Amino acid sequence: MTVDLSEFATPHKTKCKMARIIEDLDASQAEKLLSALGEPKIVPAGITRALSGWGIAVSENVVKRHRQGLCCCA
Ligand SMILES: [Zn+2]
Repeated sequence: MTVDLSEFATPHKTKCKMARIIEDLDASQAEKLLSALGEPKIVPAGITRALSGWGIAVSENVVKRHRQGLCCCA
């Protein structure tokens, strides 16, 4: 019996929800979001609120972890 191990073979294959959201946005929205993430004065709640305005639901924890480099795609 052969076990398919291909999903374990590629490191850094997974991206966190935040990275996937950024990928799915159009270029101008992605740029805005990246600037907001890089701006310490913008709190995670502000980011989740803006994203929900764009029809995207994301938790503040996802935003925080991605920002701090604690997520799986860091
Ligand atoms: Zn991430």
